[in-house]
Amino acid sequence: MKLFGVLGDPVSHSLSPVMHNAAFKALGMDCEYHAFRVSPENLEKALYGAYALGFGGLNLTIPLKEKALDIVQPSELARQIGAVNTVDFEHGMAGHNTDGMGAKMALSSAGIKITGKNILLLGAGGAARAIAFQLAKDGARVTIANRTLERAEALAKDVKKVGKAQASGYENLKNLIQDSDILINSTSVGMYPKISGTIVTSDMMHKDQVVFDIVYNPQNTLLLKEAKKAGATTIDGVMMLVFQGAESFKIWTGRTPPVDEMEKAVREKLA
Ligand code: NAP
Repeated sequence: MKLFGVLGDPVSHSLSPVMHNAAFKALGMDCEYHAFRVSPENLEKALYGAYALGFGGLNLTIPLKEKALDIVQPSELARQIGAVNTVDFEHGMAGHNTDGMGAKMALSSAGIKITGKNILLLGAGGAARAIAFQLAKDGARVTIANRTLERAEALAKDVKKVGKAQASGYENLKNLIQDSDILINSTSVGMYPKISGTIVTSDMMHKDQVVFDIVYNPQNTLLLKEAKKAGATTIDGVMMLVFQGAESFKIWTGRTPPVDEMEKAVREKLA
């Protein structure tokens, strides 16, 4: 039997075990995935321990993603983003970041093209960094709008090395939204338990827009409800969660992940 897992602190809330175990079951693989609470001080020992024990691979979550850069051999993208969420032990200890690919696949699996599109990304935290790099590399024009302007400016400066990016605060949000093809919320606004929060309301959006909220708890956030009112196309955060997990699964096993089974398992758990 091969073991996989997610390291983090806290980690008991993670949906990754249910998602990956559903994938192993669907493919009849003799593998198990578990959550392990690990503090940043113990990350290096935990990674070498998992390597020595023959683990198939690991995910990393808060607060370990940045620290892992100094321990594993990060991919170019993980280094640019500044965080590792997937560790593969096949060739030493390789670090990847699949969050941006998760967002890209959530869009493309819904038939949304990215190249040449104006994307307004709300937020400049860890998830926003991964999404901004991936979508700019894929040829989108990414405007990063954040409550703290300096963070948006710092991220836009980094992303400009790989594609088109600019920074903004929230003062001109309505115009920025009107000019965007795709609006992505990568802030934590609207997340459980503060589910009555949204930065954007229906009067600010238009019906030809795609609105993607990466918050997955609740699945139908207030932002998505507002977007539906405006007649926009909506994508929820579960899709990004599933596709980032699917990318990790591919890296570890080389197999095509059963994305539908993974989505079903996550939605059942969240419900
Ligand atoms: P983070 O690094 O802590 O960043 C949080 C971001 O939210 C910052 O840009 C912050 O702005 C902004 N923010 C927080 N409260 C705000 C408020 N009241 N008004 C305006 N902006 C506010 O967090 P993260 O890791 O990027 O995660 C962000 C969200 O994405 C979380 O809800 C997380 O669960 C979700 N997520 C989903 C997936 C998925 O697969 N679907 C993956 C990763 C994360 P400031 O810079 O001004 O503080």
